[in-house]
Amino acid sequence: MSSPRKRRVVLLGSTGSIGGSTLKVADQLTKHIELVGLAAASNIVQLAKQVRDTGVRQVALYDASKEAALRALLPSGVRIHVGAEGLVHLATLAEADMVLVAIVGTAGLQPALAAIEAGKDLAIASKEILVMAGELITAAAARHGVKLLPVDSEHNAIFQCLDGQRGGAEAVARLILTASGGPFRTMPKADLARVTPEQALRHPTWEMGPKITIDSATLFNKGLEMIEARWLFGIGMERIDVLVHPQSIIHSMVEFRDGSLLAQLSRTDMCFPIQYALTWPERVAGGLQAPDFATLAKLEFEAPRDDVFPALGLARRAGLCGGTLPAVFNAANEVAVAAFRSGQLSFPGIWACVAAAMDSHQVEPSSSLATVLAADHWARQYATTFCQPGA
Ligand code: NDP
Repeated sequence: MSSPRKRRVVLLGSTGSIGGSTLKVADQLTKHIELVGLAAASNIVQLAKQVRDTGVRQVALYDASKEAALRALLPSGVRIHVGAEGLVHLATLAEADMVLVAIVGTAGLQPALAAIEAGKDLAIASKEILVMAGELITAAAARHGVKLLPVDSEHNAIFQCLDGQRGGAEAVARLILTASGGPFRTMPKADLARVTPEQALRHPTWEMGPKITIDSATLFNKGLEMIEARWLFGIGMERIDVLVHPQSIIHSMVEFRDGSLLAQLSRTDMCFPIQYALTWPERVAGGLQAPDFATLAKLEFEAPRDDVFPALGLARRAGLCGGTLPAVFNAANEVAVAAFRSGQLSFPGIWACVAAAMDSHQVEPSSSLATVLAADHWARQYATTFCQPGA
């Protein structure tokens, strides 16, 4: 039997946390994965090192002002593409089979759509792009016959539980997204007003980039994931639940209509879902080990404190309403997180900012990219004003 051809992958966001884990996976699986392009925003030193380590011949750098400085660090013959067009160029490289989007925030949306239109399978870490434009992305993927492979650990877990199951969405009673609960899982509500960015950046189980770490503390991360799941699996928001599981060993579960549950378990290392997305539908041996049940002390579960962490309720409302409201939910949160990190907004202020933006938004159908981007722009302006001192 011939072994499957190597998958040729473009990695957008290579200098981030997911990017670093993807490079580790690719390094372990050189028979299965070949990196053909890397992209970052502005971290030229790390990008240049990655180019030398991997031997890729094409890179994209969002910050065009650093092109010359990057050129000086790269081996000759490596092509540099800059700006938003540079990302799109890389996402549509003729030699790529798959694009992994791991750009924080919404800058990954246009390259993701371009990759789909060029017929590339898309591995998606950037949950924000599915939240703001899930309808457009899933419709484009269906039109172009490309596969959407979830990298987010919860969605990758659900993808694994559903893989090979018959009956489609009809067979599913509900999706259960697990949440670590973040660093403030048991903190009294009154104390949350005094939480500092340093405290919020200390996640109990996962090491991730700063934006998603703050989102995990507010539970906006889980809210974004509820909407992400709705699009990836075609399951209505009313059938998507969240369960707090502080050990983060069960990454999510599917409850079927016959009352059976399937769960996916692994250690808290993003290399697991990344590897599955990059090698799907194969399962290959890399450097990863299964959890050892004999040494796992316990697996605990509890209901989320919806009254203390309003992000889940806001996400449900945005997902049920649809149209441009999820884009507003996402963009207002992004601005509020940045304001919290710079000391402009309190921790509960993040929820207040998103709720206010959602209350003030005139929802429209998310029928075109222009409508979605306009809602995103509106929400950023609204949230920026909301976060100004004295506003
Ligand atoms: P990081 O902050 O660690 O990294 C972000 C990456 O995006 C960097 O490579 C950064 O480049 C790049 N980037 C940012 N803006 C642009 C831009 N305009 N053009 C090109 N590249 C850009 O984030 P994470 O790796 O933690 O997260 C990435 C995405 O994956 C997020 O959407 C997050 O929600 C999602 N995710 C992350 C998980 C995790 O464990 N970290 C788990 C599940 C999902 P530079 O370094 O040059 O700034």
